[in-house]
Amino acid sequence: MADALQTLQLGHRPQGRTLLTASWVVGHKNSGHTLLRNGEVVFENGEILFVGHGFQGEVARRIDFGNTLISPGLIDLDALSDLDTTILGIDHHPGWAKGRVWPRSYVEAGPYEMYSQEELAFQKRFAFSQLLLNGITTAAPIASLFYREWGETVAEFDAAADAAGELGLRVYLSPAYRSGGMVLEEPGRMVPVFDEERGFHGLKDAVAYIERQNGRHGDLVRGMLAPDRVETSTLALLQRTDAAARDLGCKFRLHMAQGVMEVETVKMLHGSTAPVWLAKAGLLSDRLVAPHATNATEEDLRLYVENGVSIVHCPLVSGRGGSTLNSFSACRSRGLNIAMGTDTTPPDMLMNLLVGLITCRINDRAPDRVRCAHLFDAATLGGARALGRSDIGHLSAGARADIAVFDLDDLFMAPSIDPITTIVTGGSGKITRAVFVDGRLSMRDRQVAGLDLQKARTQAQAQYDGLIAKYPERSWANPPVSEIFPPSYPIEVANA
Ligand SMILES: [Zn+2]
Repeated sequence: MADALQTLQLGHRPQGRTLLTASWVVGHKNSGHTLLRNGEVVFENGEILFVGHGFQGEVARRIDFGNTLISPGLIDLDALSDLDTTILGIDHHPGWAKGRVWPRSYVEAGPYEMYSQEELAFQKRFAFSQLLLNGITTAAPIASLFYREWGETVAEFDAAADAAGELGLRVYLSPAYRSGGMVLEEPGRMVPVFDEERGFHGLKDAVAYIERQNGRHGDLVRGMLAPDRVETSTLALLQRTDAAARDLGCKFRLHMAQGVMEVETVKMLHGSTAPVWLAKAGLLSDRLVAPHATNATEEDLRLYVENGVSIVHCPLVSGRGGSTLNSFSACRSRGLNIAMGTDTTPPDMLMNLLVGLITCRINDRAPDRVRCAHLFDAATLGGARALGRSDIGHLSAGARADIAVFDLDDLFMAPSIDPITTIVTGGSGKITRAVFVDGRLSMRDRQVAGLDLQKARTQAQAQYDGLIAKYPERSWANPPVSEIFPPSYPIEVANA
């Protein structure tokens, strides 16, 4: 009975064995997903005991989810973790004129944190809850450094680890660092400036953070190093990062082959593309997770495959910015491991899978080279492989109990012939009914543990308004907000 779901406590593991049933269950056989009609999943503590039909053992409770899909939780390796700012630029271009690159005047005045430590902690907790609402159970957070004094801070990541533990979200964390940044010298002319020592310092803090936090909250928290973008990292910083990742046994994520400005800057600094530059230095390996590959050359992709690099595909944010992975199906056929990311608002993985399907078919100029299941694989098995984990991304005995339940009867969903096709073409995480992470009930009917989401939404708007108000001082020639972000239509107000 679904009523048994209501008796569970958010943020906690139910006592004893829990058996879930639904009209469809994603099972696992021979390293690939299967579909079980009227299947069962049994878990106890954090581990799955059984996936199949007709479980014979005793259980403490049975929860029948009806016409739903019981799915592995989705894995998001470029997970939105702030109050999204790319949305600010959606209709406002070019980015350098709209506060997306620090003008020289702002650098000389001394960049400062746009948010207080409390606000930084709040936005992570709020974003984590949004990920859970969308059926995401594992997240490697990403946020923009444009709004920071320099890198991310240990204090906010300590708070983020606690937020993940309290909400029940599996996370890969450490503060992002960098050895440089882009500065706008005059309209349209951006140059990189470096402060390598600051980068080393950030790496040292991140390593200490991982040593201290790795395995906390019942192993929900693990480490991943996060040098922030290849064009603002020096070779020495990346060499030390790779060595640290090897010592810690963790991955590092580095954005590259993802934008025109980056490709041009790296070419100017190093004479090649970023993947070629790193390959020459011996820094491409399966320790590297590299969003977004939208600007990757044939040679870049070949080097990724040869060296076991995983990419993170974020089709919504890329497509909205006018770029795509060219193409998802071609990368897949080469044997490149593709993970998925949300990276922007809405942090909706199912929406990303739909956009990924569409953009791939546009690039292929053909409808038959990519299937919904390929995108679903990327958001589950691909993400797990990028993290080097065989115990998440699929449902089978011995795997962690990371589960998302998607409602196939939702009024917004079309009648279905296949549950995977239905959830991908439906394109909305709003059908997520319940989420379990490591056996904890982390989301039920749009509620999460310890956070009133309605109140949090109001707080998020107020915090965002405060950020926007600070835009003029960090935009070229300091125009007022109304000029940086003109409204979609003229605004009319009542006479006083
Ligand atoms: Zn990204």
